[in-house]
Amino acid sequence: MSPGWQEVGAGIFVRRHAELDLNCGLVVGDGACLVVDTRSHLGEAADLIAAVRTVTPHPWTVVNTHAHYDHCFGNAAFRPAAIWGLRGCAADLAATGELQRADVVRGLVDSGDQRTADLVACAPIDPPDSLVDDVAVLDVGGREVTLLFLGRGHTGADLVVEVEAEGDGTVVFAGDLVEEGAPPAFDDAFPVEWPATLGRLHALARGPVVPGHGAVVDAAFVGAQREELLAVLAALRSGRPEDGPYDAETMATAAARLR
Ligand SMILES: [Zn+2]
Repeated sequence: MSPGWQEVGAGIFVRRHAELDLNCGLVVGDGACLVVDTRSHLGEAADLIAAVRTVTPHPWTVVNTHAHYDHCFGNAAFRPAAIWGLRGCAADLAATGELQRADVVRGLVDSGDQRTADLVACAPIDPPDSLVDDVAVLDVGGREVTLLFLGRGHTGADLVVEVEAEGDGTVVFAGDLVEEGAPPAFDDAFPVEWPATLGRLHALARGPVVPGHGAVVDAAFVGAQREELLAVLAALRSGRPEDGPYDAETMATAAARLR
């Protein structure tokens, strides 16, 4: 497989995977690098590590954007490096990791993908241990990387990774707070708070925004997705989910998370 990196800023890379259309990030500094999210199991993580090594030989630090399995079940392959994440992300993964595993394995077996099911079945649950409450600034080989909690949205603990780029620009890794190519996922979401969180993300974006899944977008896309999330709320509150911007199943999932 080709390494498949897209450079979205000097020394800032995105790797978009066929599996789940998932994006991982790589930030390369002077003698150090940072990997954003680790994929669904140790096999995918090993593939990601091989791809990282086509770009840089430097030791890595890791960040998890949130506690969903496709972003963090590969963590153990990156040890003994520090893995950064929100305190709530670590708690979510410890609390829900085995439940997520059971759901995912069942779905994979049902779809006939026994090989991937076996890999997810044996992925160690290895939560972040460098914990962030609201903000942390990392020095990645002389590059400033800011880890930010902007509020609840896709989950209760979504971390945004902001990387200084050329000029006064930035590259933002948004995790699943932003989703391209499919509706946002509401299964563990906070739909009342999500629009305000995206409003903050919209305000700080000054360059490429990397969604958790799909093509790299920009601040305008984030603003448009915030409008869609507001339309979800309006439709649900008026009792007319069919007026919402997404398909019926997505709207029903969002409705179940209204509180
Ligand atoms: Zn997610």
